[in-house]
Amino acid sequence: MIKDYLIVGQGLAGSFLSWNLLKRNKSIIIVDQNHKNCSSLAAAGMINPITGKRLVLSQRCEELLPYAKEVYHELERHFKKKFFESKDIIRLFNSEQELDEWEKKSQQTHLKKYYGKKQDPGTYEDSLNDEKGSFVIQQGGYCRKLDLLNCFTDYFKINNLLVSERFDYDDLKIKEDFVEWKGESFGCVVFCEGYQAQDNPWFSWLPYNHAKGEILTVSNKDSFLPDAVISCGKWCIPIGDGKYTVGSTYSWDKFDCKATDEAKEEILREIGVFIKASFEVAEHMAGVRPIMKDLNPAMGRHPEFNSVAIFNGLASKGLILGPFYSNQMAEYLVGVQSLEKEVSIDRFIKKHF
Ligand SMILES: Cc1cc2nc3c(=O)[nH]c(=O)nc-3n(C[C@H](O)[C@H](O)[C@H](O)COP(=O)(O)OP(=O)(O)OC[C@H]3O[C@@H](n4cnc5c(N)ncnc54)[C@H](O)[C@@H]3O)c2cc1C
Repeated sequence: MIKDYLIVGQGLAGSFLSWNLLKRNKSIIIVDQNHKNCSSLAAAGMINPITGKRLVLSQRCEELLPYAKEVYHELERHFKKKFFESKDIIRLFNSEQELDEWEKKSQQTHLKKYYGKKQDPGTYEDSLNDEKGSFVIQQGGYCRKLDLLNCFTDYFKINNLLVSERFDYDDLKIKEDFVEWKGESFGCVVFCEGYQAQDNPWFSWLPYNHAKGEILTVSNKDSFLPDAVISCGKWCIPIGDGKYTVGSTYSWDKFDCKATDEAKEEILREIGVFIKASFEVAEHMAGVRPIMKDLNPAMGRHPEFNSVAIFNGLASKGLILGPFYSNQMAEYLVGVQSLEKEVSIDRFIKKHF
């Protein structure tokens, strides 16, 4: 019997998409190589509505953030586990320009719920170097992404939906309106391989601009840091038990998932500029963020092969983009909604295919 979808990759993209297809009673098989070189494992889990020197509200935040929270709550109810931790984010000011940006944006009625109160220099003088003051970013927090990914993996395994092996492209046979893989037929294969899609024979033409990143889990049981994410270029997330996730780095020239001493030193040095505490490193992880040149997700069916599709490009925001766009992708695949033009791979066809 023909199954509906073959999903390649079970990072955040593949997991959210599979979940959405199962909710629509579709039959699926997922193939993943035990999360080898998986960006989702390295993600810090941060959900931060305001980023950059200009303190810009994340694109479509007002739609995507509540949507993502609702999905995490739905998953929490299903798996009986807490994933989303709501946390204030203390954003330290670096310059007069940032103070001006806060003044402008915090006046705007529709932005008030994100741009929280301004705090005087020295408010956290026991634990932080906050000489220029800070403000509180509201509505953010972090997702316990490892717990989430493990719940998904267990669920897919228990239901015999997950095949743990490397997907070899030569094993895929593309027919007129279905595909075959290892003797089974599927209506469509959807590639959710993260940055490894750059080697995919059907999608290597997409304009990728991946970025390697590294993060540390550190511990400090003696200092009392505020119970909030602290952000100042680099960031520090309290994850409980005197432990913190700190990061991260960006590099665009090497795509592997090896942890490096240079990145570890960079993170500890830059964290040390604004946090008055010393940390012991407990864990060090690296991954490659799957990013498209225009920073938007890459979704859709192959221009020549209707039963070959891709769901990728969640960039450095998989935890906020993943819930919303996996739902859109599922609706597109089952034929009830078209893709937004900003995320459809059709936007690249003329120039790159
Ligand atoms: C250091 C770092 C920090 C980050 N921090 C955050 C953060 O705080 N918040 C946030 O929202 N995002 C963050 N991100 C980004 C986030 O990790 C990505 O947006 C997201 O994880 C991408 O998910 P994905 O499923 O597309 O790719 P991946 O997570 O890479 O998953 C792809 C999966 O496909 C599998 N696969 C690939 N090829 C094959 C094959 N041929 N056969 C079988 N399996 C295959 C891989 O093994 C992997 O399991 C961070 C990323 C990095 C690197």
